[in-house]
Amino acid sequence: ARGLVRRYAMRRGMFGRAAEVRAVNGVSLALAPGETLGLVGESGCGKSTTGRLVLGLEAPDAGEVCFEGAPMPSPGTPAWRRQRARLQMVFQDPLGALDRRLPVAAQVAEPLEIHGLGGRTERAARVEALLRAVGLRADHGARYPHELSGGQRQRAVLARALATDPTLLVCDEPISALDVSIQAQVMNLLTEVQATAGVAMLFVSHDLRAVRQVSHRVAVMYLGSIVEEGDPDAILHDPAHPYTRALVSAIPRPGAQGQRIVLRGDPPNPAARPSGCAFHPRCAVAVPLCARVSPELKPRRDGRLVACHVAQGEVAPGTGVSEPAR
Ligand code: SF4
Ligand code: MG
Repeated sequence: ARGLVRRYAMRRGMFGRAAEVRAVNGVSLALAPGETLGLVGESGCGKSTTGRLVLGLEAPDAGEVCFEGAPMPSPGTPAWRRQRARLQMVFQDPLGALDRRLPVAAQVAEPLEIHGLGGRTERAARVEALLRAVGLRADHGARYPHELSGGQRQRAVLARALATDPTLLVCDEPISALDVSIQAQVMNLLTEVQATAGVAMLFVSHDLRAVRQVSHRVAVMYLGSIVEEGDPDAILHDPAHPYTRALVSAIPRPGAQGQRIVLRGDPPNPAARPSGCAFHPRCAVAVPLCARVSPELKPRRDGRLVACHVAQGEVAPGTGVSEPAR
């Protein structure tokens, strides 16, 4: 994905003027076959929209998505539908993603029917194998979604997503609707599936710890932009961007040194994007430059990608700027 931009018009009040919301503001990312990229950030940072743009469920206002070297076809076209068999998504809410009137096996078989893959017997065998691969039994397939637990439902959703043998799986908060006791199981399953099916994965989550567990690489998003990207352990142990530092400091760790960094200011609002570095009103080390000039995402000497004037070593850390310069 190169330079993705996605804007929405949002009206304030019934007669208010439409404000432009830049949900995604110039995101570039690359995924190698079989690789998992974790996309982390708070709600509203544009990570879900990025996932939808990557899958071609929405068209970007600027930028492009290429899949195996070719530009993604326009949504809704026959070429796009063919492509879609190779790109699948797992959503946060497994109950909402499933049809409550159909037994699970029928829903796992659905993508095979839509894409005309296999005959009836082949499909039945494939569904059984898929259910087994995600840790469900054949008799789970005969049940309706409400007869399964939350974890079993997410397994069923995963089986359905894997039915067409996709090349890329976008998982959007796949565990956040599940009980904590089940989250670890589903995470292990995702790691396993990723390794055995060799599928590339874009793992979208607000939970840096969960992302680290499954990802080969992590990208941190803030207000529509990637602010830091690199090796998950390196980011967790030595975050470079002030926003990532705050995120990492909020993770409870037994015996961990250091204090939690409490971010000042308002949570990010994509309808009121600050000038310059979008993080500057909340940044403790901002300098006046930060309110004027948006830092580019570029590699440091150690290869870590970071979008910050200070972390890049361009300027010495400041003490924060409260007012954007005019
Ligand atoms: Fe943004 Fe400046 Fe803070 Fe870096 S130091 S995160 S550029 S405000
Ligand atoms: Mg989301």
